[in-house]
Amino acid sequence: MSLDMGRMNSVIDIDADSGLARIQAGALGPHLEAQLAAQGWTIGHFPDSFTHSTIGGWAATRSSGMQSDKYGDIAQIVRGIRVVRPSRDGRDGVLVIPAIPSASTGPSVREMIVGSEGRLGVITEITAQVHRVAEVREIQAYFFPTWEAGIKAMQTISESDASPIITRVSDARETGFSMATSKERHGMDALLAGKVLPALMKSKGWNLDEICLSFIGFEGGAAHVTRQKKLVGAIVKQHGGMGVGTGPGVLYDQKKFDTPYLRDFLLDRGPRATSPRPPRRGRSCCRSTTGSSRPPTAPTTRSAPRGGSCATSRTPTIRARASTSPSPSWAERTCSPSTTS
Ligand SMILES: Cc1cc2nc3c(=O)[nH]c(=O)nc-3n(C[C@H](O)[C@H](O)[C@H](O)COP(=O)(O)OP(=O)(O)OC[C@H]3O[C@@H](n4cnc5c(N)ncnc54)[C@H](O)[C@@H]3O)c2cc1C
Repeated sequence: MSLDMGRMNSVIDIDADSGLARIQAGALGPHLEAQLAAQGWTIGHFPDSFTHSTIGGWAATRSSGMQSDKYGDIAQIVRGIRVVRPSRDGRDGVLVIPAIPSASTGPSVREMIVGSEGRLGVITEITAQVHRVAEVREIQAYFFPTWEAGIKAMQTISESDASPIITRVSDARETGFSMATSKERHGMDALLAGKVLPALMKSKGWNLDEICLSFIGFEGGAAHVTRQKKLVGAIVKQHGGMGVGTGPGVLYDQKKFDTPYLRDFLLDRGPRATSPRPPRRGRSCCRSTTGSSRPPTAPTTRSAPRGGSCATSRTPTIRARASTSPSPSWAERTCSPSTTS
């Protein structure tokens, strides 16, 4: 059975005191965010499929977003839910789970519905926790000399007082893929990205084929963001990494929803998508399984892809196989990361 929820796409109301918004389940990500933003709010839920998926679908698939570090997965965001089920024995089939702040009883019917993939009925409305749009938002890019250094830095960040909204590091192959597919640069920009940065890395003794790109996002008041960046900057330095500013981060923010849609195109040509290792400390983390010289195998895909090379916000990962990996000179050709990681 196919059900079009497209006309149930409105934010019904927002209770500013509790930060709870009643939202019709067919609202697509961008339309939903636009309605919330018009009143200064955000839901803070950005799965890679954001552009073409609905809040009802997010709840039905128990999805996770790029900023779940800060805002939580959809299971935390959904406070109340309305589900329409077939009526039986003359009884109304509508099930309403009210939005209550917390409950110390169980099992939770709401928890049963979130992730039920439509098996328990049609979700028609969600009461979601929403947040005031942050004063400042920045995505900073960092490079690490090796995967191990990047991972250690991410772990240290997770144990520190820093509370970024996005924390992700790509392994060398995913970084290579980002570089190889980056946008063409011109003038000073090209010189800096293509010559100065690789030269600087080489002068530090870095092997350009091992470097790992990381994006870390910050949100909040100006003073808060400044402090967070300082904390993270010190940790990055402690692990031998270096910051390259917001330039790549701005591109990442603009293009982050495009990459998943490259996936099928790339899978047809050999690259594989990998699944993350089991989460550690609530973090999802995986290492590229690429580099094999074996012939292309059936791609490993997930209906709900999660995890970058190490992405605390669980987002899809695409990595090129060895045969499609960039040549050793890729980093010298350009060091301008694209937004594909
Ligand atoms: C390119 C791509 C990127 C993705 N990225 C992520 C990601 O970053 N994080 C993540 O967690 N997942 C991700 N996913 C998978 C995730 O399942 C979907 O992104 C999304 O949550 C599904 O929403 P949808 O509106 O598209 O639902 P659909 O695909 O239409 O439906 C998915 C399931 O939910 C059920 N369903 C949908 N709406 C309702 C409703 N109103 N009531 C009851 N059941 C319903 C359907 O019956 C179906 O079983 C991705 C998928 C793709 C294709």
